[in-house]
Amino acid sequence: MNQASPVIVATYAEIALKGRNRTVFMRKLLNNMRTMLKGAPVRDIRHVESRLIIELEDPAAAQEVSAQLKKVFGLQWISPAVPISRAEVEAALAADLAAGREPGLDAVCRIAAEMAAAHSDGCAHFKVATRRSDRSFSLTSPDINRIVGAAVYQAVELPGRMHHPDLVVNVLVLKESLLVFCAKEKAYGGLPAGSSGRVMVLLSGGIDSPVAGWLMMRRGCRPDFIHFYSGRTAAEADTDKIEKLVALLAGYFPAPLRLHLVPVVPYEMRAMGNVPDSHDMVMFRRFMFKTAASLARNNKCRALVSGDSLGQVASQTIFNLGAITPDIRLPILRPLIGLDKQEITAWSRETGLFETSILPYRDCCSIRSPKPVLTARPQNLLRFSQAMNLEEAVHEALTATVRVDIG
Ligand code: ATP
Ligand code: MG
Repeated sequence: MNQASPVIVATYAEIALKGRNRTVFMRKLLNNMRTMLKGAPVRDIRHVESRLIIELEDPAAAQEVSAQLKKVFGLQWISPAVPISRAEVEAALAADLAAGREPGLDAVCRIAAEMAAAHSDGCAHFKVATRRSDRSFSLTSPDINRIVGAAVYQAVELPGRMHHPDLVVNVLVLKESLLVFCAKEKAYGGLPAGSSGRVMVLLSGGIDSPVAGWLMMRRGCRPDFIHFYSGRTAAEADTDKIEKLVALLAGYFPAPLRLHLVPVVPYEMRAMGNVPDSHDMVMFRRFMFKTAASLARNNKCRALVSGDSLGQVASQTIFNLGAITPDIRLPILRPLIGLDKQEITAWSRETGLFETSILPYRDCCSIRSPKPVLTARPQNLLRFSQAMNLEEAVHEALTATVRVDIG
């Protein structure tokens, strides 16, 4: 490793728990990192002693590359770091020993002090945290903490503190190098994109379903999106906002994602006169799920994903959730089911979706009859489905579906 060139060091969490499949996950993670960093000034990405080391061509790009890496699922922590050649450090230590001096670690101290000074604004205390991945290094971690801690203290003039210090200067001892870093940022964890199979996400223009899609992407799923629009054509429905949401989500995936735009008119034509107002909302949701299930099968998706949160609105009571899809065999994943609106909104903001989610849009759910039944019965829904010929509505909707590739 070239001593002068800065790096970014990253860790992975859950992949480390995988047994025999670990290499498959690791390969996927590395491939995803390479794809998502395409065009960035990155020289190399290496898997070194349970860390990922991203070698930068341009130190000024550290922030931009870190931000991009944060979108790679499977990573746990990310930090710009400065590497110091292990051989040089060992040679200096040997010289100290031969001269009868205390071990100095000058190169490490200099970089640690500079880095601490650059990050100490607003900090009241610090600590040095050393980890020896390679334990053959001649100094122990407490030795290194003490020596480097003294240098940092001189530079920042802050007291040391072991528990919850504001500033942590990390020293990581690897076989080939020592890394110094202190701007550790939490990434999103999860599993590498594409490692958990394909899912069909029912995407509305709201806050919830984009977060639901994002959470399943974080579990390694590759999403297709299905959106139902009101109006005669997708152009007339002005689905710009939906496409923007998909583009934001595609920023977390190493390949373009598909959006399927489906008209709701085939449902509305047949529901009129056949579905009582009280059941229109749940029957409409049944139409959406049935159509999504068919489309999922044609697109090799193994599950449906929706943004339901238990009890949030009338159509999401436990009775209605159960009554709507008794005849759908694909698993229906509802990652938000136990979250409240505040928690969902916090994710929406965190992931950068919120600003787009709150743009005005006339979702087809918002124009349904206002007083839906809270305890729909599956046998009634099956009866209405026959009366209105739901199968035919689904077929007609699928025939009119338009696919857009985004990302
Ligand atoms: P969201 O914020 O995701 O719109 P919501 O709280 O408004 O959710 P509903 O309108 O009852 O709840 O919708 C529940 C779920 O049904 C959504 O999270 C989404 O998965 C799906 N859904 C609703 N409207 C549409 C649509 N027009 N196209 C595709 N899926 C939809
Ligand atoms: Mg909605």
